[in-house]
Amino acid sequence: MIQIEIELAVAIYLALSILILLIWIVFEWKKKTTEDLNMDNSLWQCPTCFYTYIDSRSESISKCPRCGTLHKKEEKE
Ligand SMILES: [Zn+2]
Repeated sequence: MIQIEIELAVAIYLALSILILLIWIVFEWKKKTTEDLNMDNSLWQCPTCFYTYIDSRSESISKCPRCGTLHKKEEKE
């Protein structure tokens, strides 16, 4: 009886470990995908001097670090 309980406990422990590992993998994968999207969204190109830079703080309006022009985010095609 005790033997079965130990085997059951080990089985549950292993199942939980695999489940946690899978959740962690999915979480990391989603995090990476979100980071990639954020990186893509934070890339700006100034329409005045065509300087390309990364500004992750701004979402719709950004200031060019080279010429100081405020400009809106260009819509992607
Ligand atoms: Zn500029």
